[in-house]
Amino acid sequence: MADLSPPAATACDFDVIVLGAGPAGAAAARTARAEGLSVALLDKARFPRAKLCGGGLTGRSARYFQDIFGSPLPPALIDSKTAVEFHAEGQPLGHLPQIPAMHLTMRWSFDAELVARALAAGAADLTGQRIARIDPEGPAVTLADGRRLTARVLIGADGVHSAVARALFGQAHDRARVGFGLEVEAPAAPGNATAPLRIDFGAAHWGYGWHFPKSGSSTIGIGGVQARNPHMKAAMADYLALLGQDPALPVKGHHLPFGDFPARPGRGAVLLAGDAAGLVDPITGEGIAYAMKSGQLAARAAARALAAGAPATALARYRAALRPIHRAIRQARAIRLLLFAPLFRPAFLSAFRRSGHLRQLYMRLLAGEIEYPDMARAVLRRLPAFLAGAVRRGKTP
Ligand SMILES: Cc1cc2nc3c(=O)[nH]c(=O)nc-3n(C[C@H](O)[C@H](O)[C@H](O)COP(=O)(O)OP(=O)(O)OC[C@H]3O[C@@H](n4cnc5c(N)ncnc54)[C@H](O)[C@@H]3O)c2cc1C
Repeated sequence: MADLSPPAATACDFDVIVLGAGPAGAAAARTARAEGLSVALLDKARFPRAKLCGGGLTGRSARYFQDIFGSPLPPALIDSKTAVEFHAEGQPLGHLPQIPAMHLTMRWSFDAELVARALAAGAADLTGQRIARIDPEGPAVTLADGRRLTARVLIGADGVHSAVARALFGQAHDRARVGFGLEVEAPAAPGNATAPLRIDFGAAHWGYGWHFPKSGSSTIGIGGVQARNPHMKAAMADYLALLGQDPALPVKGHHLPFGDFPARPGRGAVLLAGDAAGLVDPITGEGIAYAMKSGQLAARAAARALAAGAPATALARYRAALRPIHRAIRQARAIRLLLFAPLFRPAFLSAFRRSGHLRQLYMRLLAGEIEYPDMARAVLRRLPAFLAGAVRRGKTP
């Protein structure tokens, strides 16, 4: 008689390997440990390590951090801001003296703290290890020193150029849709402690510019859809000049998956989280919150799949859990047209200049207090004026 019992599980080195120890990977490793799984946290870098980023942590990030890492954001790692200035093409658009707190951090120390918390929870420390090969079928990862590590579930949290996504799909992101950001770290100005955040619409096409005054540095950057910004270096030079900054400051660049996410964030027992899954807000460029949240959801999906004795069901479980994030990104992508398309931008900016309500909504959106449908309703209420302006100019987006 045929043996219909399930095949005996082959021994694996770990329940879960998390590849990439940024916010997504650290959150995944920490959550997997909380679920009682054995975990390896792997990264080519040793921490602290540099990561190009504004370091803006919204209210959403603060909530997810608390939920996943078990405490409020550590005060020593953040500067909290409650005022913001908006500009467009060098002209002031409005000042909000009292916004929901936005927190600014340096990724150098923030990410090191997250990794330390994941390791303290019992994840095996495999940071500082280069990867030679990823085998999604195993799943298994071969290190550059020849060691082959196997797991029941592999979580690819290895950023926008994800090697795990490439192993699964041949590419990590769509070049036509990916975003790109340029940034400098300027010396902290004496007034940084009380200076507001600054956001400049139009500093980049289909994106914006930012000046985040922190206690140890002033982080200044521009970011937008790469394909729409062929002259981004020149735009960055203009932005530095506008802010009166030294043009010789070293400028660095990095991609960000600006609303370009794969419908299937993985395959079977291999899951993608954070930038590797394209989970960046396509209007604000915020990625840390969704990175932490998706890492948590991926680890929980892995735990449920393993408890059911069916690691290959991890993706289906994870996809279901990710639905609200995917919906929010789709909504933001639709609204982005109204905010950034050349046809609508003048009307949007003029509404933004006139309407304190719209500016407040934008900041509450950034703070994670409201979601895109609320913002959409406010923008759509002004749509007739947008359209009338566009028709007058006789243009199409
Ligand atoms: C210019 C710029 C400004 C930004 N500003 C903000 C902001 O202010 N607020 C915000 O919320 N978001 C911002 N973002 C987005 C944010 O940085 C990302 O969304 C976030 O870092 C995603 O986290 P992650 O853990 O998915 O990936 P990452 O933080 O990129 O971490 C990936 C990790 O994987 C490791 N890794 C990669 N490849 C391999 C490999 N082959 N083997 C081993 N390890 C590997 C890397 O060393 C890294 O540690 C910005 C992005 C850019 C480019």
